[in-house]
Amino acid sequence: MFKYLNRRIVILAMLITVLALLIFSRTTELLSHETAAEDVDIILPPYIDGAVTRRAYDDLPDIDIDSWEYMLVNQAHNCGVYAPDVEQIEGTSSYFEVRAIDKLYALLDAAKEAGFDPHVYVGYRAYVIQADQYRAQVAKLVEKGYSQADAEREAAEVSSEPGTSEHQTGLCIDLVDRYTESLTDFQMDPAFEAWLNAHVAEFGFIMRYPENKISVTGRFEPWHIRYVGEEAAKFMTEHGLALEEFVTLYH
Ligand SMILES: [Zn+2]
Repeated sequence: MFKYLNRRIVILAMLITVLALLIFSRTTELLSHETAAEDVDIILPPYIDGAVTRRAYDDLPDIDIDSWEYMLVNQAHNCGVYAPDVEQIEGTSSYFEVRAIDKLYALLDAAKEAGFDPHVYVGYRAYVIQADQYRAQVAKLVEKGYSQADAEREAAEVSSEPGTSEHQTGLCIDLVDRYTESLTDFQMDPAFEAWLNAHVAEFGFIMRYPENKISVTGRFEPWHIRYVGEEAAKFMTEHGLALEEFVTLYH
């Protein structure tokens, strides 16, 4: 009786040992595979570029790029019929995003204190207004003998297509140093331009279309300033990045 029992125990023990050995060898095999994967040189696909560039900045602001302050609107980023909550800028007929209007007032006050006489040329421009302006521009060109397609292309040069003007975000203004009928051929006072370049970031604004970023933005407008919040404004100004380039660092 005991003899049989012993033999059974021995067989059982052997089976368990074989099973344990099998499991052990399989586990080590899996582990060694994982280790091997880390040693392989991975060639990064081009879309990882943004992440690589991002690592180049150890002071990159820790922000949510999808937040309202960083909204990117340009010819490639049409915001459709987006309409922000805006408020009239005191003493002007222009409007600005309510969440940032105090920052704008602080900037305008500082400019006055520095001896300038800042004029808000235009702030928020609604989708319908932009659409009207664009249509009028196209019509004018068609009247001059342009084909519809040519007129549309030409009109986009002077008046943004509806949905592609940053003025629709309510986050930017064209700020000049004296009254002007039109911004075409307007010459900024170099002292005022220099003051803007040096100080807007303190109030959370950036020079949106500087001369050295035409290759990125397609425009040079020394009067166009844009709110992005202090942290981002300082970072972009310090590193000489356009909003287009800044946003790319987060995608
Ligand atoms: Zn503008």
